[in-house]
Amino acid sequence: MGQVVIGVDLGGTNLRTALLSPDGKVLDRQKEATQAVIGWKQVVFRLIRNIQRLEAVARQQGMDVAAVGVGAPGVIQMDKGIVVKSPNFPDWNNLPLKDELERALCLPVAIENDANAAALGEQWRGAGRGIDSMILLTLGTGVGGGIVLNDRIWQGADGMAGEIGHMTLIPEGRQCGCGNNGCLEMYASARGIVRSYREALGSADTGAAAGITSEQVYQAARGGETVARRVMKDMGRMLGIGIANLINIFNPQMIVLGGGVKDAWDLFIGATQEEIMRRAFQVPAERTKIVPSLLGDDAGMIGAAAVALRAIER
Ligand SMILES: [Zn+2]
Repeated sequence: MGQVVIGVDLGGTNLRTALLSPDGKVLDRQKEATQAVIGWKQVVFRLIRNIQRLEAVARQQGMDVAAVGVGAPGVIQMDKGIVVKSPNFPDWNNLPLKDELERALCLPVAIENDANAAALGEQWRGAGRGIDSMILLTLGTGVGGGIVLNDRIWQGADGMAGEIGHMTLIPEGRQCGCGNNGCLEMYASARGIVRSYREALGSADTGAAAGITSEQVYQAARGGETVARRVMKDMGRMLGIGIANLINIFNPQMIVLGGGVKDAWDLFIGATQEEIMRRAFQVPAERTKIVPSLLGDDAGMIGAAAVALRAIER
């Protein structure tokens, strides 16, 4: 019987589940709205139902599911598979997700932080294929990060490593949800871009820029609007400063940029590269390839499958 694994990306918005071959080919997949508001019991129930559906698909094709990997948002106690807390799931307090799933599925389950799983996914099957040290920055509503060093996720002593979005760039800068001021996320995320644009127009919450989306800022910049162009350039600079710090610390082979903001690549990447060359050491700065992600929204799910494979190989 052929062995396969299941990878799950448990996002605040979508629950993505896929059946993968051991070499990372997606054999089947499903996606549904997470609906975090229905409470943890219901979310876990749906998670189990989704996994069981794919298990049935595997069985029909004469394959056996060997393990399940789940990428979950928030603070996770890795060894025990406990979600300590999660911004997307307000009622998840010390939820023993690994135990809950293992009991229901009778399968080995491994839990990983979702951003770390996405980084591993890109390294395994995406932009970082064949590369053993790379960093993923997901520029979405916020800025997520994951660090893969020597083919392994760098989890840190508490499983909290890779919070690149909360690197301080401006000591007394914008107040961040994490409690710090001036985090990279406050400037290089979609939300940060919208805020910069509003501030540049001098209208914090009202007036011409109220209700504007990041896509509209990109569009305005592409149309040649001076303020929008400057906002995107400034965003690129902030990102470049953050990346220069990463290059000097980790000397990675590659930095992969994912998330919705990467659609505005042409509007910020020049300024990003300029800051990197200005601030990082020359040899590692020239080596580091800065590339867009290849897997997009699939990275977390595919990376979670890699986590499952590694858990059973150990
Ligand atoms: Zn922060």
